Amino acid sequence: MIKYRKKEIINGEMQTHTVSYEEIVQLVGEEGVDQYILEEGYVRYSDETFNQYQNATAQTAKYPPSHALEYLSLGIASEAGEVAGKMKKWIRDGDSKMTRDEWVQAMSSEIGDVLWYSARLADELGLSLSQIAEDNMEKLLDRKARGVIGGSGDNR
Ligand SMILES: [Mg+2]
Repeated sequence: MIKYRKKEIINGEMQTHTVSYEEIVQLVGEEGVDQYILEEGYVRYSDETFNQYQNATAQTAKYPPSHALEYLSLGIASEAGEVAGKMKKWIRDGDSKMTRDEWVQAMSSEIGDVLWYSARLADELGLSLSQIAEDNMEKLLDRKARGVIGGSGDNR
């Protein structure tokens, strides 16, 4: 989905406005889209990379469909544990067992595994990984604008 985004500071707070191509067409018609985007200061935002990756993961998906959500949720936790394990071993062994480059590559592989399970879980839930990434970034930018990046709580 093609989207457009603009950021502006209102009352000292960063606000992000996102609008889809279809919404702009509803407002001004197809012929008015370019002018609307220009005048309103929107920037095209379309990153299908995550969705393309999500679609590609279906080729290597092998788990019982009846337990897909449980399997994939556990997979995320398991692979996150492998990230933690690689970190733990680096703290313990440092570069005595592998070079830093080898360790970074091992971390990269485990991060990729977390990503694979995340993409499959999103898919099984009918979610778009690109949308998840976008929503996550908007949430964090909003927290940053409000000065609440630190602290805890899902809904701050
Ligand atoms: Mg792994």
